[in-house]
Amino acid sequence: MIVMDRMEWTSPNGRRIVLVEGDITRIAVDAMANAANSALAGGGGVDGAIHRAGGPTIMRELDAIRAAAGGCPTGSAVATGAGELLARYVFHAVGPIYRDGRRGEPELLAGCYRKCLALADERAVRTISFPAISTGVYGYPQKAAAEIAIGEVRRHLERPDTTVEQVIFVLFGKGAYEVYREILGE
Ligand code: ADP
Repeated sequence: MIVMDRMEWTSPNGRRIVLVEGDITRIAVDAMANAANSALAGGGGVDGAIHRAGGPTIMRELDAIRAAAGGCPTGSAVATGAGELLARYVFHAVGPIYRDGRRGEPELLAGCYRKCLALADERAVRTISFPAISTGVYGYPQKAAAEIAIGEVRRHLERPDTTVEQVIFVLFGKGAYEVYREILGE
């Protein structure tokens, strides 16, 4: 898919949030976040697209993490290299499966974004892309998820000590893009 649309927001300290509609595997960044599962086993959706485009080395690294740690808890993320992707790292975030919103889903989803941004700072990452974590098969309502994603990223970009200069939300489809555009514009 080609990139079809784009919107930018600049924070008072000069850092940027960029929205694009498109395929996350096509956009060059320092780090790319993935919507993974707690078994780190690979799957469909954006996870499948990232592994297909990145090649087998990413799964080999995840195999090692799984052997050592057993997986990744919901609300957190682990880092690997990016194989053949246009990135240095992939951060595999495990979003919550949405049930009714009263089982800690908001805090777990926020945790995914916070952990990825912390992994980014540890690696001096300047540009990072995110898909809309948990809003596919995990069923998180798009608007509520976008409010959390944008809120966490804005808060992080205000920190004087972050290395992150630009966050790109890559939205799959016009509907998801429009949801983010509305919230970012508020
Ligand atoms: P989850 O299990 O966390 O819900 P999914 O992969 O099912 O993960 O969906 C997460 C989001 O990623 C959905 O909004 C889906 O439309 C989107 N998505 C799927 N493929 C891509 C892609 N290639 N680039 C960016 N976003 C994608």
